[in-house]
Amino acid sequence: MNSTARPISADAESDTGRLHRLFESQQAKARALRTSSAAERVAKLARLRKLMFEKREAVHAACHADFAKPAAEVEVTEILPVVAEAHHAMRKLKSWMKPKRKRPTLLMLGTRAEVRTEPRGVCLIISPWNYPINLSLGPLVSAIAAGNTVILKPSEMTPHCASFLQEFLAELFDEDEVAVVQGAAETTQTLLELPFDHIFFTGSPAVGRIVMGAAAKHLSSVTLELGGKSPVIVDRSAKIKSAATTLMWGKFANNGQTCIAPDYVYVHDEIRDEFVAACREALDSLYGAREKLADNGDYCRIVNDKHYQRVRALLDDAIERGAKLPVGTVPANEDRFLAPTLLTQVGENARIMEEEIFGPLMPILAFDDIEGPIAAINARPKPLALYIYATDKNLIETVLSRTSAGGSCVNQTMMHFLHGQLPFGGVNNSGIGNSHGHYGYLAFSHERSVLRDRFSLAFLFRPPYNAFTRAFIRFAVRWLS
Ligand code: NAD
Repeated sequence: MNSTARPISADAESDTGRLHRLFESQQAKARALRTSSAAERVAKLARLRKLMFEKREAVHAACHADFAKPAAEVEVTEILPVVAEAHHAMRKLKSWMKPKRKRPTLLMLGTRAEVRTEPRGVCLIISPWNYPINLSLGPLVSAIAAGNTVILKPSEMTPHCASFLQEFLAELFDEDEVAVVQGAAETTQTLLELPFDHIFFTGSPAVGRIVMGAAAKHLSSVTLELGGKSPVIVDRSAKIKSAATTLMWGKFANNGQTCIAPDYVYVHDEIRDEFVAACREALDSLYGAREKLADNGDYCRIVNDKHYQRVRALLDDAIERGAKLPVGTVPANEDRFLAPTLLTQVGENARIMEEEIFGPLMPILAFDDIEGPIAAINARPKPLALYIYATDKNLIETVLSRTSAGGSCVNQTMMHFLHGQLPFGGVNNSGIGNSHGHYGYLAFSHERSVLRDRFSLAFLFRPPYNAFTRAFIRFAVRWLS
């Protein structure tokens, strides 16, 4: 399809001009796509899904080159979510696109009303590095399903995946429909000057604020999928072994570089030692002997030196402030390797308790009264995820109803991401809006109200206000009050 697959960067002035021309060509295409049928969109998704399957080896190679991502994790966390998203949209799109009839309210008797979804138009998708394929193509599936054109700006931190995306999408779409623009912050900011109809950003809250500020200039709508510290509560009523196993997987998959990774754990005092021992056992059964961990192909690496130094600094600061390591690092400093590390006796003022960790460190704090964790969680910005391990139904309900989080799992970790019928998103600091399935389709659609008049009472609400209309309005107010 698209033969000009060279990376676009806005470093040069001529490239800025090229971005403007690209944007204008997408505006023209977006107008043409407004009337595209469900069948046409499904055909595009089917081609994307098929090519994704055919290019699996290339996805593996790119993810491995960027951060030694293990093959099985590439399948589960990069390829599977994309093909599942496409599969779900292909099955449901016809019904999602159908206008939804709305019954008239009493005042609207005599009208017919419906909600139609229309494409937003030209959309910008900005993606992060930690799931570079999934978090680029997942939103793209929703955008295509909703009938938009897209400029995708993948992360510069995973350059092999960004190049893969550029070539992959060039095989499927002309640039006026889907284009990949590679570059870092400067390129993104040049893109953000354009009057996009919608901006779908996945990344940190700090950059989310920059994106929202830029969107405000054009009143572009935004979906912000952000991050933060996702807490875990392990109650004394929890099944300890199962809690430890799922948490060790959730924390250390992708080397802890997951937006919804359990960030830190509150464990009930009575079971703390048993829980820590169960975590150690779980790590052994997931990854084998610690001294051989550096050679284990199932264990990912930190993405680059900058992040490696950042995570080490969090660890050093916690140790300086008195943290203990019941499961500590192993001395293999090369290759951005850091073993799964559990910390206890962590001070609430340690940096590790202030910043999103985004690495293989897990602070474990003890509590004896659930009011403590609830108050501490509510004192922090609202998290993207909150996990509860308990069998005590009252405690589960207490935590769910007295805290706020983008999403939650009970007796599980991270799996809500894969549930195609659930909205995925944050609240305030952890995000605005939702993605996935129907919610993703709606994020890339405008819901347009259409009211058709047949024999409505509208004539009673307009001048001249005579005795009859005034009496009717008074009656209506009294009736509905
Ligand atoms: P990031 O915010 O640094 O970068 C995200 C994107 O923004 C990249 O494409 C990058 O090039 C661009 N960018 C970076 N700085 C910019 C700037 N100053 N101006 C304009 N654009 C800029 O995030 P990251 O490091 O790639 O990813 C990690 C963060 O993303 C974590 O906070 C994590 O929790 C979050 N995240 C959230 C989700 C989610 O679904 N909610 C998923 C993955 C990651």
